Amino acid sequence: MNAVTPADAELTAAERDRILAKAALFSPPPVTTADGRRDLVGLSREELVQELAALGEKPFRAKQLWHWIYHQGVTDFDRMSSIAAPLRARLAERFVIARPEAATVQTSRDGTRKFLFRFRDAQQVETVYIPDPEEDRGAVCISTQVGCTLSCRFCHTGTQKLVRNLGAAEIVGQFMAARDSYGEWPSPKDDKPRLLSTIVVMGMGEPLYNYENTAKALRIVMDGEGIGLSRRRITLSTSGVVPMMDRCGEELGVNLAVSLHAVTDELRNEIVPLNRKYPIAELLAACRRYPGASNARRITFEYVMLRGINDSEAEARELVRLLHGLPAKVNLIPFNPWPGSPYQTSTYEQTAKFAAILNEAGYSSPIRRPRGRDILAACGQLKTESERERKAAG
Ligand code: SAH
Ligand code: SF4
Repeated sequence: MNAVTPADAELTAAERDRILAKAALFSPPPVTTADGRRDLVGLSREELVQELAALGEKPFRAKQLWHWIYHQGVTDFDRMSSIAAPLRARLAERFVIARPEAATVQTSRDGTRKFLFRFRDAQQVETVYIPDPEEDRGAVCISTQVGCTLSCRFCHTGTQKLVRNLGAAEIVGQFMAARDSYGEWPSPKDDKPRLLSTIVVMGMGEPLYNYENTAKALRIVMDGEGIGLSRRRITLSTSGVVPMMDRCGEELGVNLAVSLHAVTDELRNEIVPLNRKYPIAELLAACRRYPGASNARRITFEYVMLRGINDSEAEARELVRLLHGLPAKVNLIPFNPWPGSPYQTSTYEQTAKFAAILNEAGYSSPIRRPRGRDILAACGQLKTESERERKAAG
């Protein structure tokens, strides 16, 4: 049933190339400061080795720098005590270890903290830290694009046109700057408790439409000699970019979350317009192929509860039928309103009935508690003022 024919595979490869070529049109600006110094954050290990080789330095220097940047969280070359002063000075002449600038930081009544980060070209995204209410741990929700090309009807980001993709430095930089805010350096080793313990790639934008930069950033985050967050602690959410899902699974092996939100193509076409390209059956087939999906590592299906739109008991039963045989759990997300949003959230009773049907069928289906709503930091509420630059001078 899930067999991929050679013709299918070719089509998928062509589609993947098209997606990657389009992503390149929205590339981030170069990672240099106004005075021409290069940001070392966001370089792969290999690139760091090359930068140092250009200065006549051996590869072990790259290893040392990696440790200072990603394990110690140092941003000042002068604090790198394992590197002699003359080399530190040469490094500081050519490089910086930067962070996105936190233009505003707001903390919600429930402890959720939202950062508005501004990059060198003045474009902005939001990042949210959601602490666990009971334990000393929490998730950092990071953005991958300024705006989004997709326009899911219930999503605030979807009302903001895609301005550009974020670079690897900007993606990993959000996490590092959030860690700065809580002083969580050096990176806790192995399974030691961490306040910022998981990453959810669920902020602004569609990560699989900015795959290369997202993948590069996540590889940095997962590197055991630096931040060292394991792939099991990272969840990437997609609205269903089917041709990129296989690569994400094979190359990154992170947990997958899929924004399903509807059980018929008719409704999904309307509220998640990407469905017109990749309908539910194709999306679920890609989920069934997703490497590493097992009972221990289930795929999360996100389902935003829209009153009277997608929340009936019949729809819950249809969802059970669709998910049959898939190691899955379902996150029921109460719809978070935003200024001018066209929906209402389902009643608690209706959401509970919906959840009960899924639970009875063996699918864990927690009802997500909205966090940070008072500061518009909850799922789907993120948006910035950034717009695509106009040509006009002056
Ligand atoms: N583009 C990706 C990741 C970012 S959106 C995606 O769509 O999956 C993260 C999650 O928030 C998605 O499941 C999205 O559907 C959900 N979401 C968007 N708007 C929402 C809203 N107003 N209320 C609740 N959840 C919302
Ligand atoms: Fe984009 Fe995700 Fe929002 Fe849809 S839900 S508009 S894909 S950010």
